[in-house]
Amino acid sequence: MSLEKGKIFVVSAPSGSGKTTIVRQVLKNLPEIVFSVSATTRPQRAQEINGKDYFFISKDEFLKKIDDGDFAEWEIFYDYYYGTLKSFIYSNIDEGRSVLLEIDVNGALKIKESFPEAILVYISPPSIEELERRLRARATETEADLKKRIDRAAMELEKKFLFDVVFINDDLEKASSEVYTFIKNNFYGGNQ
Ligand code: 5GP
Repeated sequence: MSLEKGKIFVVSAPSGSGKTTIVRQVLKNLPEIVFSVSATTRPQRAQEINGKDYFFISKDEFLKKIDDGDFAEWEIFYDYYYGTLKSFIYSNIDEGRSVLLEIDVNGALKIKESFPEAILVYISPPSIEELERRLRARATETEADLKKRIDRAAMELEKKFLFDVVFINDDLEKASSEVYTFIKNNFYGGNQ
């Protein structure tokens, strides 16, 4: 008897689109879906747990994993490496567990190349001006970093049409509920 494979959901958005909050909400309501833990060379933040939020590894370890072909995709993002581990994806989907990847837009499109069955969800800010306003309100970046993020967001917004579905986050509650409903329907729905 063959076990039905788990599904792959990918959620992407420019930073400042409320993506993390939305993903947390979805996973809270659909605990059967496993959050894909990426590897990164970025320093661990105070509230983060190694092995739960990310696998925090050195640049040397990361480069070795690239050489060994361990990543389904990887990207350099603001001077740090981030990558999705093939082993993490396969060990779950082969056992029938669905996974959710919260990764950047280019990474999502690479996943679609390797896993055409993956379901790509894009969360869009209402406009680039609103995104800039949110990033400024967050006040976590220097002006130079802010500019980098806004330029990158503009590039990422151009690629939203390559995704399977786009949700506009003009209201966090509403967007969370729409993304949750979409993922739930696909999770319980028939084979993709
Ligand atoms: P942060 O440093 O804020 O946790 O994440 C920075 C960005 O990297 C976010 O857009 C996040 O979605 C993205 N990211 C996290 N893990 C991966 C990954 O494995 N691959 C790619 N391509 N992007 C990732």
